[in-house]
Amino acid sequence: MKLLERARPEILSLQPYSSARMESRSRGIMLNANESPWPPVGNETTSLNRYPDPQPTALRVRMAELYDVAPERVLMGRGSDEAIDLLVRAFCREGRDAIVVSPPTFGMYAVAAAIQGARVIDAPLGADFAVDVDAVLAAITENTKIVFVCTPNNPTGAVVPLTTIARLADALRDRALLVVDEAYLEFAGGAPSATILISRHENVAVLRTLSKAYALAGARVGALVADAQIVALLRRIQAPYPLPSSSVAVALTALGGVAVAEAQARVAILLSERDSLAPALARARGVLAILPSSANFLCVRFADAAQTYQSLIEHGVVVRDVGRYAQLEGCLRISVGTPAENWQLLAALGLRRAVA
Ligand SMILES: *Cc1c(COP(=O)(O)O)cnc(C)c1O
Repeated sequence: MKLLERARPEILSLQPYSSARMESRSRGIMLNANESPWPPVGNETTSLNRYPDPQPTALRVRMAELYDVAPERVLMGRGSDEAIDLLVRAFCREGRDAIVVSPPTFGMYAVAAAIQGARVIDAPLGADFAVDVDAVLAAITENTKIVFVCTPNNPTGAVVPLTTIARLADALRDRALLVVDEAYLEFAGGAPSATILISRHENVAVLRTLSKAYALAGARVGALVADAQIVALLRRIQAPYPLPSSSVAVALTALGGVAVAEAQARVAILLSERDSLAPALARARGVLAILPSSANFLCVRFADAAQTYQSLIEHGVVVRDVGRYAQLEGCLRISVGTPAENWQLLAALGLRRAVA
């Protein structure tokens, strides 16, 4: 795979740490990892005294099934945030290499690059907050290693069409990795995942997470779906035991058949709430615009965002001020809550009488 040669040479030649759990999966009296022989006090029915499987097979198989890919293409980690960090560290040489992002977008890509000492080149979103393919391609240099695309985009909410992603992947072939962040894809009404492009475009890597639609932000479980060689590369630099056993257990529960159906039913509720919230908000005093959203949030432009933000806080409603992002002056990002919470939001904006 030619793209692999674009990874940092010291990572390619690295002798990865070999943990006790990797060296032997045999069962018996386990005296190989300096673990406590007893389960922890207060949690005696668990095996939390043992180090976890680095990539637990049952969860890997289940997530592969969920995302409709082969298990070899799944790298599990502490949320998709960890995968963003691993990708930048594996590919970008400090002081020399760069990533390309399309602001306004998720801030973690630029933070990961800054930590690694990689440059961040902006190719701003164009009209209607769509990815500007020509601007992205114009930003590419010999030292560009990764292009990040977020779909639906946080904080604007728009889906990036798969044709755009395929066009970018083609143009970047053998030169740069195209990372497609699909943290909110479950809310995008059946929009297809870029995972279906990986077989033809080995430079496409997709980020998925259980943090949003599966309600597991606190468990920290996400996945990178990519060519098996990219997965193997990142495994070399990932922490030896990235997934806590307790998080693996709750993730397996959340991905059981009945639980997935329930999660989908909740997504449907949020979409219906979002679609009634938008026109209701449009009637609020001081609302200038609401960006069309395919995610579980709305990006709303207010005449006086600072005052609205403060007034909402005083009414016990906390939203995100995204006004510091380019092109989003005066905007607040509002997550869709339960029907009761959304009612309270509208009441706080003077659109409903508050419920007791
Ligand atoms: C919430 C979010 C994530 C999820 O991060 P986790 O580390 O998986 O919790 C990833 N990307 C974007 C754009 C997000 O908004």
